[in-house]
Amino acid sequence: MNVGIIGGGVVGAAIAHRLSPHSNLEVQVFEQNPPNHLEATGAALGVLSAVISSKLKGKHLKLGLESLRLYEALIPALIESTGLSVPYNRHGILQLFFDAEDFARWTKTQSVRQQQGFILEHWSRQELIERYPELAEARSHLTGAIAVGAVYSPQDRQIDPVALTQALIQGATQNGAQFHFNTSISSFRIEAGAENQRVTHLYQGKRQGKEENAIAVDWVIVSAGLGSAALTQTLAQPIQIRPVLGQALHLRCPNAMRIDSPVINGSDIHLVPLSEDELWVGATVEFPDDKIILEPDPLALEELWQKAIALYPTLAHAEILRTWQGLRPRPEERAAPIIERLPGYQNVLIATGHYRNGVLMAPITAQKIEAYLEAAL
Ligand SMILES: Cc1cc2nc3c(=O)[nH]c(=O)nc-3n(C[C@H](O)[C@H](O)[C@H](O)COP(=O)(O)OP(=O)(O)OC[C@H]3O[C@@H](n4cnc5c(N)ncnc54)[C@H](O)[C@@H]3O)c2cc1C
Repeated sequence: MNVGIIGGGVVGAAIAHRLSPHSNLEVQVFEQNPPNHLEATGAALGVLSAVISSKLKGKHLKLGLESLRLYEALIPALIESTGLSVPYNRHGILQLFFDAEDFARWTKTQSVRQQQGFILEHWSRQELIERYPELAEARSHLTGAIAVGAVYSPQDRQIDPVALTQALIQGATQNGAQFHFNTSISSFRIEAGAENQRVTHLYQGKRQGKEENAIAVDWVIVSAGLGSAALTQTLAQPIQIRPVLGQALHLRCPNAMRIDSPVINGSDIHLVPLSEDELWVGATVEFPDDKIILEPDPLALEELWQKAIALYPTLAHAEILRTWQGLRPRPEERAAPIIERLPGYQNVLIATGHYRNGVLMAPITAQKIEAYLEAAL
């Protein structure tokens, strides 16, 4: 059975890795970019925040929590099978609060999570400062208020998204999956069926108006991030996905972080420790409005920088090593992510529109796609 996966970001790579051990499946991934040239995945901070979500129930929360559980087994297995290093921060997430009412509301979240089998610790300001004296001066950039307390989530994680994707690709390749880079899929050969249509071939491009390089497939998985919009349009079942821009910073600040530091969250930003001397800070959330070309806003980057300093004042002395930006694939007028069979087709599955949580949700997405295929075969 030939499975063609379109898109080799973290989602497509996770799906290929999950399907690759199945001896009845020939897995091929088609990625328009060269190797190691990642789109949204290459810009992500890799924060896996599910337990500390403010949601109490619902599909999104369930997917996040299940994916987090999958990560715990996936990462050691991936490191062992590939021999690659995949930086994985197991020290949790520490979220700071600057508003007493907001902080008090989290006691409810804490008890709901406990029933769901997860831990959230509710620390008073005193407890926070005892554990993290360096956060005594943490402030809200917006109001100037100091932290009234914190919620510590020991089971949330952070992973290097590029190292993860490379390991997933290598692991899948070792199991026999094939990755075709510099290969953009532009259209499909479609066959009418009794009820639904079938895609029989993927086309790489057109030359002199004629489709060329037909690749025979039994199943198609569209995991092309923002590119999924054009592909589903070609299949006459358009799924609207809009870009939401994010900017981030890589800082150096000697001895600023502890070696066992959790990700620190506050004022809607993350401080992601990389070592005692380096960290990532992100990310801005910039909507396109009606602009055709989405340009990064320098004021938004400056605000991110000021928020980071308010949260962790020692960063005022930090050196900016790098800034970058990326586009998150966000479904229009639909909840993220979209993991389903494409209406009107028997053999097209969609795994896209993961917006702000594609790294978190890559393993559960792959598991869901595997379940669709197993049920259909
Ligand atoms: C600044 C920033 C910070 C983020 N931080 C986090 C975070 O902390 N945690 C988290 O979970 N998520 C985070 N995200 C979101 C995360 O990056 C995305 O949800 C995730 O990377 C989506 O993965 P993907 O594989 O669907 O998309 P992509 O990584 O965009 O991959 C899709 C791939 O499909 C390819 N493609 C498109 N069209 C075609 C075609 N026609 N033929 C062949 N190939 C095609 C593209 O080249 C691309 O490589 C962040 C995003 C940004 C921008």
